[in-house]
Amino acid sequence: MKYNVAVIGSGMSGIMASIYLAEKGLKTAVISKGDPICSVSSGCIDIAGTGSDTFLEIEKFPAEHPYHKVGKEGIADSINYFKELIGKYGFIYSGDIDKNRSILTPIGKKRTTSLVPFPMEYADIKEGENFHIISFKDIKDFFPSYVVINYPGTKVSVFDAETDSTLGIATKMDNEDFLLTFISWINRQNIETDKVGIPAVLGINKTDSILKKLQEETGKLFFEIPTLPPSIPGLRLYRKFKKLAESKGVCFYGNAEISNFESENDKITEIVIKKPGRPDTVSADAFILATGSFVSGGLRFNKTEFIETVFNIPVYSPNSTDLFNKDFFKLGHPIEKAGILINENFKPLEAGFSNLFAAGSILANSETMKYGCGHGMAISTGVAAAKNVEEYLK
Ligand SMILES: Cc1cc2nc3c(=O)[nH]c(=O)nc-3n(C[C@H](O)[C@H](O)[C@H](O)COP(=O)(O)OP(=O)(O)OC[C@H]3O[C@@H](n4cnc5c(N)ncnc54)[C@H](O)[C@@H]3O)c2cc1C
Repeated sequence: MKYNVAVIGSGMSGIMASIYLAEKGLKTAVISKGDPICSVSSGCIDIAGTGSDTFLEIEKFPAEHPYHKVGKEGIADSINYFKELIGKYGFIYSGDIDKNRSILTPIGKKRTTSLVPFPMEYADIKEGENFHIISFKDIKDFFPSYVVINYPGTKVSVFDAETDSTLGIATKMDNEDFLLTFISWINRQNIETDKVGIPAVLGINKTDSILKKLQEETGKLFFEIPTLPPSIPGLRLYRKFKKLAESKGVCFYGNAEISNFESENDKITEIVIKKPGRPDTVSADAFILATGSFVSGGLRFNKTEFIETVFNIPVYSPNSTDLFNKDFFKLGHPIEKAGILINENFKPLEAGFSNLFAAGSILANSETMKYGCGHGMAISTGVAAAKNVEEYLK
């Protein structure tokens, strides 16, 4: 099949790029071997750092950070574009892109982020504010006792949903009869506070109507608390975002690992998708590499060198003797800097292909964990790469 643009990777950067290009009338495909990180994320859009002003935080990022290639205006425009697009599609995000906020985590600590999906609109807890917690019998990945330690005086009610996984409870919530039983149980709990926190299980497909019914029938303000992966808010975001892209005409190839590619002179002409039997091929005039970092398989390390897994293009490796320290959970591990270096047009350096562009967490020096810029950087570099592709194809 022939496209104007083939985007490899269905993460926030790849889908965002594909929507931009499809809206410009370009025939666009997204090819991806698996679900992206977004589907296990909190669904919140981290833009930058932990200070109150996201753009002041970005100013402090090192000169080589990919955000600086997008620029302040580009970052603001692209994240607002995302917010408006998905909002019109019924998935409202709260918050201002230039501000950070703190929301409650399942262990009762606060987490900094910028935009939150609508069920977390009231998840900021102000100094001295009281709230009630609803939990579920035997639920995994949610720890109300830790919330109580951090917020003494918080009362907890526990509902027996007869399943212990967040996915199981969320699936049940989509059922009208289950929801009505749950609401009638809530109304018997004599909850004294106006605000009620609940693990993020308020349905998968009908969250907006479930939330509305809960508020109307109980008179309380509910807010979801994101749980550890598998994360229902992340799953909701991924499914909605993918559907939005499909509604714009983007064609998705799922379970599609790329085994090979063809090139002519300095241009990639087609990619080959591994398949039982005859392999599938996708041809395009331009390609965007949005395959993520080590977690998603866009990069790997083979004992001696870093490898980019689709086109085998050069990977920047931080010159650090500390590269193999095992403290991977410490922010700022040097390996987070590894990735693809790009020029001002989002083309990988020294790759040798004039029609290849790159976006998202595969970019070198992005250090998304250290700088708290995950989805924000993916969205803005996705749009920036797509704009450069648009220009290139003119
Ligand atoms: C556990 C976790 C939770 C996070 N939570 C948040 C959060 O709540 N908020 C936030 O803002 N940020 C969060 N982040 C950071 C954020 O998710 C990422 O930085 C960002 O979403 C990355 O998006 P991406 O498009 O670059 O790539 P990814 O989401 O990594 O997607 C890459 C895609 O490429 C595909 N792929 C890889 N290799 C190939 C190949 N060879 N062939 C075909 N396809 C391939 C993968 O299957 C995947 O679909 C989190 C990160 C992690 C690890």
